[in-house]
Amino acid sequence: MFVKNIRLQHYRNYEHLHLDSFGDVNLIIGQNAQGKTNLVEALFVLALSKSHRTSKDKELIAFDQSHAHMAAEVEKKYGSLKLELSLSTQGKKARINGLEQRKLSDFIGTLNVVMFAPEDLEIVKGTPGIRRRFLDMEIGQVTPSYLFHLQQYQKVLLQRNNLLKSLWGKDASQQGMLDIWNAQLVEHGVKIVKKRKQFIKKLQKWAESIHQGITNGLEELQLLYLPSFSNTEEEDEAVLFEAFMIKLSQVKDQEIRRGMTLAGPHRDDLAFYINGKEVQTYGSQGQQRTTALSLKLAEIELIQEEIGEYPVLLLDDVLSELDPYRQTQLIETFQSKVQTFITATGVESLNADKLKDARIYTVHSGQ
Ligand code: ATP
Ligand code: MG
Repeated sequence: MFVKNIRLQHYRNYEHLHLDSFGDVNLIIGQNAQGKTNLVEALFVLALSKSHRTSKDKELIAFDQSHAHMAAEVEKKYGSLKLELSLSTQGKKARINGLEQRKLSDFIGTLNVVMFAPEDLEIVKGTPGIRRRFLDMEIGQVTPSYLFHLQQYQKVLLQRNNLLKSLWGKDASQQGMLDIWNAQLVEHGVKIVKKRKQFIKKLQKWAESIHQGITNGLEELQLLYLPSFSNTEEEDEAVLFEAFMIKLSQVKDQEIRRGMTLAGPHRDDLAFYINGKEVQTYGSQGQQRTTALSLKLAEIELIQEEIGEYPVLLLDDVLSELDPYRQTQLIETFQSKVQTFITATGVESLNADKLKDARIYTVHSGQ
């Protein structure tokens, strides 16, 4: 797919912006704090209805304003679509071709993007919560029903945790409500875990071969899903249901003591190995960065596989961090297949030879 243009109003430091006729490769050049990340973030928000940097929409609205508006025209295989998103402190409004979308999940994924930014190193180095967020964002983008189960799961989790807190010190006759919440928790939890297993398996396939390409065949990358119940391979819903239920009964006393739910997809993790050694613990900075890059590039292929079209690639501040060989690998892999937006503080650090057909946009103070 291909983003033809973008309009922003009262979005971050952009009072008004209208950019027409993007190219296949778009370089966004500017000094620090001018609005480069804000611009690629806007494309990300149009794709996923939320930012990769914050969960608070308020931060996206320009200081002293109450609303932000964003719009883009996207050329897809089957025609052109106009996407519009308005953000306010009251919530979001989304439109496709002028028609308001009652459910945000109908809007999400109309535009598909893959963003690679410096903070993605945290997918490898950071806490399990960051890896779960990565999984949720990426799966949700191609499978809207996943987001539905995730939302329901989070609601049930909250209620169940409140109930657990109230059960401390009470006798067992008060625990009946727990069974009701368990059934709902497990129902949605199983769907999430199953989808994560399928996603990671497919991601593994692509990430492994891409990583091999980037490292000249020297490194074998492996992904390992670590669910909080059941083994990694099992995908049968009935079996997962049973395993989750058993796990909940095993941890019940502990849960009441601690006042929180101790098993389920909200406690899953994902581990990465290079040549059999865990990257988080043993990997060099370069290996960790390459792992994150391989994951992101794998996602591009995976989205293509799922929806039959390549997503748009957003590279925020990362191209200049790669050595010339890796820059070339990256650009060559996707040239003429994937529309790309690249931000950098200058063109000097980029592999100019590979980018000679790029369109260059210079950003200064949100203009
Ligand atoms: P760098 O090279 O340092 O990454 P950048 O060009 O990517 O810089 P952005 O992250 O896009 O910079 O931010 C540009 C400016 O936008 C910052 O100075 C920031 O203070 C400002 N900004 C952020 N949020 C808002 C907002 N809600 N309203 C107005 N300005 C904002
Ligand atoms: Mg930036």
